[in-house]
Amino acid sequence: MTQVRTRFAPSPTGFIHLGNIRSALYPWAFARKMKGVFVLRIEDTDLERSTDASVDAILEGMEWLGLDYDEGPIYQMQRMDRYREVLKQMLDQGLAYHCYMSTEELDALRERQRAANEKPRYDGTWRPEEGKVLPPIPEGVSPVIRFRNPIGGVVSWDDAVKGTIEISNDELDDLVIARPDGTPTYNFCVVVDDLDMKITHVIRGDDHVNNTPRQINILRALGGEVPVYAHLPTVLNEQGEKMSKRHGAMSVMGYRDSGYLPEAVLNYLARLGWSHGDAEIFSREQFVEWFDLDHLGKSPAQYDPDRLNWLNAHYIKEADNARLETLTKPFLAELGIDAAMIEQGPPLELVIGLLKDRASTVKEIADNAAMFYQEPVIDPAALAQHVTEAVRPALADLRLALSEVEWSKEAISAAFKATLTSHKLKMPHLAMPVRLLVAGTTHTPSIDAVLMLFGRETVLARLEKGIA
Ligand code: GLU
Repeated sequence: MTQVRTRFAPSPTGFIHLGNIRSALYPWAFARKMKGVFVLRIEDTDLERSTDASVDAILEGMEWLGLDYDEGPIYQMQRMDRYREVLKQMLDQGLAYHCYMSTEELDALRERQRAANEKPRYDGTWRPEEGKVLPPIPEGVSPVIRFRNPIGGVVSWDDAVKGTIEISNDELDDLVIARPDGTPTYNFCVVVDDLDMKITHVIRGDDHVNNTPRQINILRALGGEVPVYAHLPTVLNEQGEKMSKRHGAMSVMGYRDSGYLPEAVLNYLARLGWSHGDAEIFSREQFVEWFDLDHLGKSPAQYDPDRLNWLNAHYIKEADNARLETLTKPFLAELGIDAAMIEQGPPLELVIGLLKDRASTVKEIADNAAMFYQEPVIDPAALAQHVTEAVRPALADLRLALSEVEWSKEAISAAFKATLTSHKLKMPHLAMPVRLLVAGTTHTPSIDAVLMLFGRETVLARLEKGIA
């Protein structure tokens, strides 16, 4: 059996969002599953719109998600000689021809066709045929090169997602494959590349379905074998619009910078247009083992941030504390908490151990961890609400008890219970003011675990200050 070869062929013309990178994930997974080869090709021939920054974003996003490639990145701009060589070969073999029709003539032709209610298409004026006399070559006109599309018959392919698609050749006119300045056009470069790179499976967005019949015709003319095509339905945003920067999509690296774990994003993307029974949570290895082209979704997938958060929360719970510590530090730095401040507080790893079960993002862990490393700023209204005259004596007793107990979660909890009983109070009456005074907020995980981490000295000092 021939070796499976897939590719991701992004145009580096903007930023890369989840919908874009999904077009890398599936061919990557298929190549890995089939023990094949995954090629990265950068389609950078649109010089005006292609940028190095965009290339970097693609490489960075793929690396973050662990989408490793076996060949590339291959830049189309570095393959111009090869495209020119194939153009020449096609001219020599009569598979393509020079067309001298000027832009004005083309416009006039289109105008006439429109007026006659016909579909605008090139009329073959310069297409050589047996016994046909071509017009005299005009002076000073640089010709384009057109592909001699077959006349009659159909182009059809069995799309792995969309089923059989059939287009009549008469719908396709002779495509321009090189511009007047000799530069090759988009569809032509794709075909030469897919051929040279021996691509067996083209897995890409369905915005390319219209290009496929033209590409197949050129491919066949060049003696190539038609690959399997799988055209992925687009990804919609929460509003049901096509995901795009203009419609507010976030870049792939934006997810890292918002505190998402790459394994969560990978798992999320895997399910965004593909399924394996009702499996929702699976590892990269499991995904690769299960991935196939038969279970790709046929309708557009819709981005659902809640679902991604749910997966991220799951992977955060599973993640090693030391790893989360490394990931949390930059977010703490953004909050103004540097290494020296972290050093002063409880071990970050233990804080993370306490907070990770209730966080959807690493950023959220940092937001919640901040209280352990900053002096509390207490809202006077909350203070008035929770630290009442009625509760002060209980707070004083609790402080006393806490100054004597062994510093363990159990002992702290016992000190609370004893104080509650002797003052006939309920847990929130005491826990809320303690939280506020020690942590500066009433939203914390269980109070005994939190106090434990703050440490006796800090707890006693802050309680003292609060009840003085
Ligand atoms: N460069 C094209 C794009 O970014 C993809 C071309 C292809 O996959 O054939 O949409």
